[in-house]
Amino acid sequence: MKRDHYRMVINGERVDSDETFETFNPAKGEILATVAKASREHAEKAVQAARHAFDHGKWRKYPVGKRARVLNQIAAIMRERFQELVEIEVLNSGKAISAAQAQINQAIEDFEFYAGAIVGHRGTVNNVPNGFLNYTQKEPVGVCAQIIPWNYPLMMAAWKVAPALAAGCSVVVKPASLTPITAILLNEICHEAGVPEGVVNTVAGAGSVVGDYLVGHEDVNKVAFTGSTPIGKDIMEKASHTLKRVTLELGGKSPNLVFADADMEAAVAGSLFGIYFNTGQSCEARSRLFVHEEIYDEFIEEFITRAKKLQLGDPFDKGTHVGSIISRDQLEIIDSYVRSAEEEGATIALGGKERRVEGFENGHWYEPTVITNVTPDMKAVQEEIFGPVVVVETFQDEREVIKRANDTKFGLGSAIWTKDQGRATRVAHQLEAGIVMVNCPFSAFPGTPFGGYKESGFGRELCVETLDLYMEDKSILSYYGPKPINPFGV
Ligand code: NAD
Repeated sequence: MKRDHYRMVINGERVDSDETFETFNPAKGEILATVAKASREHAEKAVQAARHAFDHGKWRKYPVGKRARVLNQIAAIMRERFQELVEIEVLNSGKAISAAQAQINQAIEDFEFYAGAIVGHRGTVNNVPNGFLNYTQKEPVGVCAQIIPWNYPLMMAAWKVAPALAAGCSVVVKPASLTPITAILLNEICHEAGVPEGVVNTVAGAGSVVGDYLVGHEDVNKVAFTGSTPIGKDIMEKASHTLKRVTLELGGKSPNLVFADADMEAAVAGSLFGIYFNTGQSCEARSRLFVHEEIYDEFIEEFITRAKKLQLGDPFDKGTHVGSIISRDQLEIIDSYVRSAEEEGATIALGGKERRVEGFENGHWYEPTVITNVTPDMKAVQEEIFGPVVVVETFQDEREVIKRANDTKFGLGSAIWTKDQGRATRVAHQLEAGIVMVNCPFSAFPGTPFGGYKESGFGRELCVETLDLYMEDKSILSYYGPKPINPFGV
């Protein structure tokens, strides 16, 4: 159940700090709990705990079957504590309960997925000249710093902790200060499930202090970061000093292409979900909607009619579709994009303002917003807004829309709505995006590679290949011939 105060976790112990920070319930704009604030010294202790656990501990030496059992046990405990995890996620993020349920279910399945995947994950035996044997052995990369954003607090932690544990790594998790609670609980659950002390550590604190310290630390072998593109660039640069392995899951501005032959019902429903799910605070939010000019009027009328039906309000109400914005600052950023589009001549066809929600007057609520009459150069069209705001454009033909869809520095998600299978395949192959959804509203399940092209980052999470991002391939070459080899002949 919810506590009033949360501590960090270092070397299997709950650790307090002289300093605390407040974490909020954004739907109500009120304090939810206090959290022990990690300093650089705490980050240092967490790294040393992880280092010691990796160098001298038993986790990485467990047979994979045993590690897999512990991962399954983490999933089982999360399942037992499902209601509690959902409740805390909703309280701390303001997201609709249906979204939190889906995400925590997926977080659980991530641990089950990697429990299975690691068992079948193995090295290779390679073709070499007779008399030689070469095989590769997969070894865990070491200590990993895992830096998490606020939009999917527990699910993003699971995307990182599950493969790292499966691979045999030790981790220091740095959750976002706005939403640190469920990552701390996940760490406690890992211990309850049998992960040895020091293997998972969680330190909540400022990104510029704790995150930065972890990224620069010599004893950290890898950084897995999910967050904004500017911070991702900064991390890549700092990590280069120690040549750390880096994976970056960054921002997006994903195009959603609706062709004239699309199934109108599916395209409208999927496009609504694509932008307003998780209150639009989603990296792969399909925030640039391109509608073929032949069906534009019909589509947009139906889209707006249905957007008006979306229920905004009490996140715990099962009927709620759109939850609150994470913070006042984020709400102001969203609104400033809408205002800039308006100033540049766009039309606010729906929403475009803060909403007052009865019973939640101090919370941060923004209306589902549709902006039309935009041009490609507008700030609201080029930059990630990270809120319930979609910009809509029309197009005439396939080649033109592919070019315009790709005209962005980002390359995370994309969606295509058409009944023409040939077109779907052609367009999918030409979009510069890590994920293409064809007649499909969903972007990720355990097993589907998730990650970006261009400035949306690199490295794929949520899939078998992720394991290799937490492992080194050691190539072992041995000679078994009967005579000694004397290459110099001396
Ligand atoms: P953010 O970049 O502000 O922060 C992310 C994390 O980095 C936080 O834990 C923060 O404390 C930490 N951080 C901040 N400065 C740091 C520094 N100098 N060094 C190290 N760590 C630092 O992002 P956010 O606002 O929490 O999350 C929203 C962003 O995340 C959006 O851009 C969104 O698109 C992106 N995101 C991407 C994916 C994906 O899979 N591609 C998924 C979810 C969110």
